[in-house]
Amino acid sequence: EKYVYLFNEGNSDMRNILGGKGANLAEMTNIGLPVPFGFTISTQACNDYYKAGKKISDTVEQQILVALEQLEEKTGKKLGDVTNPLLVSVRSGSVFSMPGMMDTVLNLGMNDETVKAVAKLTNNERFAYDSYRRFIQMFSNVVLGIDLFYFEQFLEETREKKGYKVDPELTAEDWQEVIAGYKAIVKRQKKIEFPQNPQEQLFLAIRAVFDSWNNQRAIVYRRIHKIPDSLGTAVNVQSMVFGNMGNDSGTGVAFTRNPSTGEHQLYGEYLMNAQGEDVVAGIRTPEAIHVLEKEMPDVYKKLLATCQLLEKHYQDMQDIEFTIERGELFILQTRNGKRTAQAAVQIAVDMVREGIIDKETAILRVDPEQLNQLLHRRIDQTAKRVPLTKGLPASPGAATGAVVFDADEAEQLGKEGKKVILVRPETTPDDIHGNVAAEAVVTSRGGMTSHAAVVARGMGKACICGCESLKIDLKNKLFTVGDTVVNYGDIITIDGSTGEIMLGGIAMIEPQLSEEFKLLLSWADQVREIGVRANADNPVDARKAFEFGAGGIGLCRTEHMFMDPKRIPIVQSMILAENYEDRKGFLDQLLIMQQGDFEGIFEAMEGHPVNIRLLDPPMHEFLPDKEELLVEVTKLQLTAPDSPELAEKERLLKKVNQLAEFNPMLGHRGCRLGIIYPEIYEMQVRAIINAAVKVTEKGIPVKPEIMIPLVGHVNELKRMRQLVEETAEQVMSATGVYFDYLVGTMIEVPRAALTADRIAEQADFFSFGTNDLTQTTFGFSRDDAEGKFLQTYIEQKVLPENPFAVLDREGVGKLIEMGVTLGRKTKRNLKTGICGEHGGEKSSIEFCYLAGLDYVSCSPYRVPLARLAAAQATI
Ligand code: PEP
Ligand code: MG
Repeated sequence: EKYVYLFNEGNSDMRNILGGKGANLAEMTNIGLPVPFGFTISTQACNDYYKAGKKISDTVEQQILVALEQLEEKTGKKLGDVTNPLLVSVRSGSVFSMPGMMDTVLNLGMNDETVKAVAKLTNNERFAYDSYRRFIQMFSNVVLGIDLFYFEQFLEETREKKGYKVDPELTAEDWQEVIAGYKAIVKRQKKIEFPQNPQEQLFLAIRAVFDSWNNQRAIVYRRIHKIPDSLGTAVNVQSMVFGNMGNDSGTGVAFTRNPSTGEHQLYGEYLMNAQGEDVVAGIRTPEAIHVLEKEMPDVYKKLLATCQLLEKHYQDMQDIEFTIERGELFILQTRNGKRTAQAAVQIAVDMVREGIIDKETAILRVDPEQLNQLLHRRIDQTAKRVPLTKGLPASPGAATGAVVFDADEAEQLGKEGKKVILVRPETTPDDIHGNVAAEAVVTSRGGMTSHAAVVARGMGKACICGCESLKIDLKNKLFTVGDTVVNYGDIITIDGSTGEIMLGGIAMIEPQLSEEFKLLLSWADQVREIGVRANADNPVDARKAFEFGAGGIGLCRTEHMFMDPKRIPIVQSMILAENYEDRKGFLDQLLIMQQGDFEGIFEAMEGHPVNIRLLDPPMHEFLPDKEELLVEVTKLQLTAPDSPELAEKERLLKKVNQLAEFNPMLGHRGCRLGIIYPEIYEMQVRAIINAAVKVTEKGIPVKPEIMIPLVGHVNELKRMRQLVEETAEQVMSATGVYFDYLVGTMIEVPRAALTADRIAEQADFFSFGTNDLTQTTFGFSRDDAEGKFLQTYIEQKVLPENPFAVLDREGVGKLIEMGVTLGRKTKRNLKTGICGEHGGEKSSIEFCYLAGLDYVSCSPYRVPLARLAAAQATI
């Protein structure tokens, strides 16, 4: 079996075997790009390594040695040779990109002898010893597990002792002193001599990379990005080229297009006389790429040409790492560049216009979840903004939150529901949980491609980097900008699109959709075969939904209209009413209010279907909390025993007690309310039909769909349908205005799905209420499960996903399929949709398409996402 591949033996289809980076290196080698030669050890070798109890097998070892020989032949250099030594990098490379999560060793092959050869060959002693000490430092940290702190401290002491401020002041002799000191650290910490045999170094490094697959940050990253633990990492061994060989050398990263805006222009940054990690680590602030055009025009031209070649070949925006060694350009790696949602849309649309990809490919290029970024708020242009300072605009969007200085704190406060902004000198992969918890991240060091920036863009969070005027004092938990002091917990607002930081909160505005965004969604609409509606309970949301392209309202929860603070007292009086007459009086007041809302919604939807659900929650939800009421009553009994207020509160308390249930979610709610208090449903139907009449009279068409919740038996629906029809008939004949309307039900308890053929006899449509259907199918309380045990279930992989977020195809999905099939058996044209939260989640949308539903319905802000996801499901 083959475990080791020379770069010219692989290609881009071999990601699973060679990892993303290895497959790319192979592909680039084959297109003829200037890639330093090397070989890749397969992911299988990594998995075998773990299976064998962390042991590299003899077969793998042999194949590595053979590949090494071939590499030596090709480069004309030899590992450990004292005249022309080969130096290599050893890097991880998993199937899915995990930037910065695993380990890398550079300059491997350096030892006390080869360093002299490097000095001679490069005519640069200082460089040779600097490289050697970098190698010792990196190898000791990554492979031997010694904290970098010891090396940094020693270097700092040496600098101080010699009266230097910065590293470039150290001479070759100084570096030799540092090397001796470093070796002593290794001996002290690990009780071994620093390994001098380059082959031994190589195998130790390969092991370390395998081991880094299971370091803490890699595990967390995989959990967040849902990457399976079983994939393993490949290891790339590649001959080194040097960006720190003087002022005609350098290193950098470049995107073939702007990853923030999508603009078609080379974008990136570089450092002269530096190694790759200097750019990524953000220790020195790099130069913008266009400066290279002036500094080294030929190299810049070659870089541009290479980028064009890459885009043509990969048909996507590329993120490349390059090194210039004494005026010669080398490409170290390329991958599809991570990008903001704005850039993703812009690039996808531009590439269609440029004839590089077709429309369907463009649709598939944009992650629906990512669209959230475009739909989120920005700082109101007209609001007064007084920037305290400005950094690099690393990831767009705006955020307001309390300042914290540490990832653990961010996580802690985040858990408590607080909005925080993580402010750090720089972030490292160890801070990943802080990036997750924070609203936004600000760093004082590092460029647009630093860790903080890359991670934030991936997560769609606002981020500002390299804000060097920010002086962070981690010890005293504060930062200063000039004379201004900002303490831990102070509120700031950041604008990730401009890089500005402001004190306090600022007015935000809702987003506008770009022309490219609308165009891409219009392509999606042409492709998709499933409708997209919105859940909206008021005219404002309905208008937003319509603007976002909703083809109707899939769920109007009428109880939300009752929750309005002005209305709730009337709702309470209605519930407290002792007799029908009293109740009727309050219902008449509510009727007028609901009717007004329905009119607004019908008008906003301009003739598209509007699905209105009659009252669903248990009555007690409209009454005050029992405990609080008890306290008030007790107080009044002491202070005002004869007051009418006390009498009123006591009456309320009695009613609250009467309505209390052990399992309200399984209690007197849904159509069970309509059957016990038909006058409530009748009022609602009257309000709907009245509104429809009014709007019809204005010349605007209406398509009401009246929905009965929580039906489990056909007889429940039969009764309610009769009530709806009789009431509608009364209104229509009284007004003389007639129009079509539908009566249907939610399918949200298992019995409804199991008897869908019977229920369809009484229904014009089914709408799957997958929130309740998930609750009742699993028997998980939707209000408690997530906090109590579901989190652990998911962490421990008892369940693959949170079923309240991602539809459980196996169980709940089976009921949906059964419901659709049985329902359509009775009524071939039965309309079907989904209105649970799942209607706005991409995997669930795909399922709904496959199950043959007519539409999905989700919150207005998720409508664009759903349109795109629906198209992707179809392609
Ligand atoms: C559902 O149960 O999925 C649903 C849409 O109704 P609600 O969330 O209002 O219970
Ligand atoms: Mg429900």
